[in-house]
Order: sequence, then C-alpha cells, then structure tokens
Amino acid sequence: MKPTPLTIVNVGYRSTNYWVISAGIARLLVDIGWPGTMGKMLATLDRMDIPLSEIRYALATHYHIDHAGLAQELKNAGVSLLVLDVQVDAIPVMKTWTKPWDKYVEISPQGNITISFPESRTVLAQIGIGGEIIHTPGHSDDSVSLLLDNGPVFTGDLTPEESAFDNPVALASWRLLREKGATTIYPAHGPTRPIEAAPPA
Ligand SMILES: [Zn+2]
Repeated sequence: MKPTPLTIVNVGYRSTNYWVISAGIARLLVDIGWPGTMGKMLATLDRMDIPLSEIRYALATHYHIDHAGLAQELKNAGVSLLVLDVQVDAIPVMKTWTKPWDKYVEISPQGNITISFPESRTVLAQIGIGGEIIHTPGHSDDSVSLLLDNGPVFTGDLTPEESAFDNPVALASWRLLREKGATTIYPAHGPTRPIEAAPPA
C-alpha cells in the first residue's frame, strides 16, 4: 500500500505558526496555541476545514506559553498530548510565566503520552506520518524538532543558524538536522525557508 501523501497547513495566529500535518484524516498539530485562545484556535481550524476530531496528537516543540498554551484544553477535547521525556520537567514551569488574565489552563500529567526520541518514529507511523522527533536544544533544553522523511522540519524557536554564532548548542542542533536530511524549515515564527546546504562560514 502506498503511503498517503502528507499535507502541511499553517493554523497559526498572533505571529506564531501552528502546523497541522495530515496523512489523510489522521492529523498531528505541532505547537499548541497561546493560553486563553481556544476560540481562536477552533475558528482557525474550522476555516481551514480541519475537524478537531481528526487531530490525533498534539506536540509542543517546547513548553513556552505561545507553543503549548492550549495543551490541556485540547486534551480535554480529545487530542492526545505527545510529550518527549526531556520535556516533562518543563511543563509545570509554564504556569510561572502566566498571569490570571491569560486564562492558562494548567497541563496535568494525566493522560499525557510520554515517549523517548527513538520511540517517536513508531508513534508517528501509527497515524501514517513518516518521520521522527529529534532533540534540538539551543533555544531551550526541552526544544524538539519534528523531521519528516521527505525533508520538512518543524523547528519551533530554534535560534536561526545565521544568528546562533554564540550558541554552540543551537549550531549542533542545526548540524544534526542537516545530517538527518532536513531540507525545508517550518519555524514557529516567520515564513518557511530552505535549510542552507552548508553552515554559514
Ligand atoms: Zn520559546
């Protein structure tokens, strides 16, 4: 059986990209909204013809409030939250960055699907997505990237290579993504762009 071709749709708002990767009607959301914006997220999904019920998993590239602010509300709506083991300790810290008026709903550990990086390929394959999740620290220690087998890579806030000259951890993350075959960067902010064939001199 031929694999279903993947589609990638941006459902972002407020200068932040949220990506829906779909293999037919099995879908994954990469980055999970600002706190208190469930109505905005639902309206955007609706406008893009993406039924919430078809989103099987949500993955935060890292646990900063503009990337995981709706995680618990989406869990409550039936979406499974995929958490990498390196992210577990960052989750409870999120609430320290929010104020009551942000209407952040704290993420409970209950129901989270916590996996290791080597397990990610199997989990993604369950929904028809060929790819893996890779640890790419540099912006934060809990930052991860989703690399699809045909080259797109979802990098969250990973510091752009050209401005990471003083950030060897970020540069090492970019090197790893390049070695693993990343070709097109889908960042959390700004437009998609090709990954440079060689690191800047
Ligand atoms: Zn961030």
